[in-house]
Formats: sequence, C-alpha cells, structure tokens
Amino acid sequence: MIRKSVLPRNIVVVGSGPAALMAADRLSAYPGLHITLIEKRKAPGRKILIAGSSGLNITNELPVPEFSSHYRGSAPRDFWRGVLDAFSPQDWLRYIDVTLGQETFLGTSGRYFVREMKASKMLRAWLHHLAAQGVRLESSGEMVSVGSGEVQLADGRRFDADAVVLALGGASYEPEEDPLRWISSFESKGIRLEPFHSSNAGYELDWKPEFLKEAEGKPIKNCVFSTERGSKRGEVMVTRYGLEGTPVYTFGCVGDARIDLLPEFSYDEILSRCLSIKENLAPLRRAKKKLPLSEAALALLFHHAPRAMLQDLGQFARLVKAVPLKLTAVRPLTEAISSAGGVHFSEVDSETLMLKKVPGVFCAGEMLDWDAPTGGFLIQGAVSTGVKAGEAAARFALERVT
Ligand SMILES: Cc1cc2nc3c(=O)[nH]c(=O)nc-3n(C[C@H](O)[C@H](O)[C@H](O)COP(=O)(O)OP(=O)(O)OC[C@H]3O[C@@H](n4cnc5c(N)ncnc54)[C@H](O)[C@@H]3O)c2cc1C
Repeated sequence: MIRKSVLPRNIVVVGSGPAALMAADRLSAYPGLHITLIEKRKAPGRKILIAGSSGLNITNELPVPEFSSHYRGSAPRDFWRGVLDAFSPQDWLRYIDVTLGQETFLGTSGRYFVREMKASKMLRAWLHHLAAQGVRLESSGEMVSVGSGEVQLADGRRFDADAVVLALGGASYEPEEDPLRWISSFESKGIRLEPFHSSNAGYELDWKPEFLKEAEGKPIKNCVFSTERGSKRGEVMVTRYGLEGTPVYTFGCVGDARIDLLPEFSYDEILSRCLSIKENLAPLRRAKKKLPLSEAALALLFHHAPRAMLQDLGQFARLVKAVPLKLTAVRPLTEAISSAGGVHFSEVDSETLMLKKVPGVFCAGEMLDWDAPTGGFLIQGAVSTGVKAGEAAARFALERVT
C-alpha cells in the first residue's frame, strides 16, 4: 500500500551562500520540514563577506525583461525571465528590508547596494532569521557525495534527506589548495558539467616597465573599452599585469582591444582643441594643455601608442579615440569575481531545478551553468534560483510517498 511518509521530513541544504540561505528561507516557511544547512567551511557565507568588503551590490534597477537578458549559459530560452518574475529584484529588495532589516540604496548606474558597507551585518541578520525559523547549521561539513535521499560528508557523517538542495557555488575565488571535490561525485553519475572558467576577471597585457612606473594602480576614468565582444563605458584600472574594471569584466577577451580615452569628444573636437595652440608643440604636449586626459591616459598614449601616431595631429586625434591594446590572457579563477560553467541545464528540470538523474536533489546558484556581468546580476541570480529550488524541494518532500 502507498502511504504518505510521516512528518517531519528532513531537508538538507548544502552551502551557505545567498542561494542556499534563500532556499533554506523558503523551505522554512513550510510546517513539517526539518532543515539542516551544511557548510564545508568553519563559518558560513564566505563569499558574501568577500563580495561585501567594498560595498555589496545586491541587484539592479533594470526591469525584468531587460534584467534577464544579462544572463548567459545553457539555460533554456525564457528561463531567466520566469525565475526573475517569480522572485524579482523588487522582491529581493523587500526581503532585505523587511526580513533582514537592512537599508538599501540605489547608487550610480542603476545598481542597488546595502547601506552598511560591510556585508557582515546582513549575513548575521540572515543567519539569525533562519535560526529563528528552526534551520540548523552544521559547519565544517564537506559534502563529497549525494544521492536520492542521502548526503555523505568527507568526515564520514551521513544525512538522510527527503529532499536535498545543493547550492555549492562556482569555482571563482577558491583557494588553490581547496579543490571542488563534489565535481567527481557528479561526474561518476554521468551528470554533464561545463568546465568552470574565469568570468568577470581582469585581463593581462604586456605593459612596458616605464608605463607601469607612471600608471600602476591608477584609473582611466570615463573611457570606452571595446573588444570584438562589445563596448562598455566606465572606469578601467591599470594593474601590474594588465587591466581590471567593469568594462573589462564585461567585454574582455584575448586578442585586440581599444580604449576611447575621451568618449564625449569627437575626433574633430580633439583636433580643433589641439590646433587652438599657436606654439609649435608636439601633439601630446598640446593634448596635455587642452584635453582632460588623466595621468594614466597620458602615460598610455606616451608609452604604448605607435610612435608614428604621436607625430601627426590627425593620427594623434584618432589614437585618443582608439588606443590599440592586445589582451594576452584572462586572470585565473582564483582571482575572478565569478565563474562560467557548472551543471549543464540539460541535467535539471527547468521548472524545479531538480537533477534528472538524481530525483529529490535540486541545484541552485552559481554551481549551475550560468553567468552574468557585475552590477548585481550575480547575487540576484543566486537568490532567485535559490527560491525556485527551495520551493520545489519543499513540494517534493511534502508530496513524497514511501
Ligand atoms: C571579490 C568578489 C566580489 C563580488 N561582488 C559581488 C557584488 O558586489 N554583487 C554580486 O551580485 N555578486 C558579487 N560577487 C559574486 C557573488 O558573491 C556570487 O555570485 C554569489 O556569492 C554566488 O552565490 P552562491 O550561493 O551560488 O555561491 P557561494 O556564495 O559561493 O556559496 C557556496 C557555498 O557552498 C559551500 N560549499 C561548496 N562546496 C561545498 C561542499 N562540498 N560541502 C559543503 N559546502 C560546500 C562554499 O563553502 C560556500 O559557502 C562577488 C564575488 C567576488 C569573489
């Protein structure tokens, strides 16, 4: 005879990033579920704390249709639209305000931030809220294997579960000595994983030492950075090894790139400003006097532009609009803000995020094969998929028959 299994049902959520915490929150709204959160590190929420170390950008003001167009990866068409309609940027902002008691504000370029500069207060409030909802946290527990109905930890502990939500994160910013051991347990089940690689990362260039002496650590503000992938206005930062900054994260790729140092000036305006000096000066010296170029921008022109272009005013004006650069490599995963790759969407039911090969096991957050630019899209993607997986796991456990 088929009967409903008796309450309470055990639910295991693995991870303690935004995707896991949000999944646990949703699960904890259902009576009769006994929820355990398992985190491999000694303390929860490491990446939220890292992300928040210089201001936590939690979402973006874009309306859902435009917001959802920022996601790349193997998700089916309209997946993101549906996920974000179900738990939208506005829902997330309300949750931070009402449930976590944290103030947010809309910053420049449409990005929302938590008012408190460090994320520790928000994380504390979140953990406190979940504890009050009855969610139990087990730290220092690394999941090495998962199956329908059980989770196995590296230290030998085993948890029985009526449903499992995995929110293990991506592969960025992980210490090299700390490999992602869960990957082999997925591979042994024949679950397709796209290899993780750096996303939202800096790019390398062969800078001349003389240039670095003048420009290392300095920004080139309000420029337009372009590659074959696209163009973005913003600030790029000169580093010892190359360039960092949102435009580079968004459109960087190995190969040719160019920077328009003065996007608000046309070629003709640059030329006429430089020509307005009557003295017989070289183009660069005219530019220093007449154009609002930063120290780093001037150093870039002086040290990295083809010599011939610095002699002729017409060519110089063209150069200011498009300094040519060669990006030689992306920075490693250990430094990247996020990773592309992860569990291929063909492996999950897109309505529930349940693994097709392991019924009762749901995936959320950056461990799935999606990626997005900086600007609040990453955390929003994590929490919205956390809601979807949490809700589906609750339904699965409660409807389960034994
Ligand atoms: C420097 C930096 C700055 C960032 N700034 C922003 C920003 O301002 N805005 C934004 O939107 N995003 C930002 N991000 C990205 C954002 O932090 C991530 O996209 C987000 O944390 C992903 O959430 P997640 O829950 O999927 O994974 P994570 O937050 O990575 O959480 C995964 C958790 O699972 C645990 N875990 C992994 N494997 C196991 C296992 N086998 N057993 C048990 N536990 C395990 C991990 O220890 C971790 O705690 C930033 C990232 C970095 C590195």
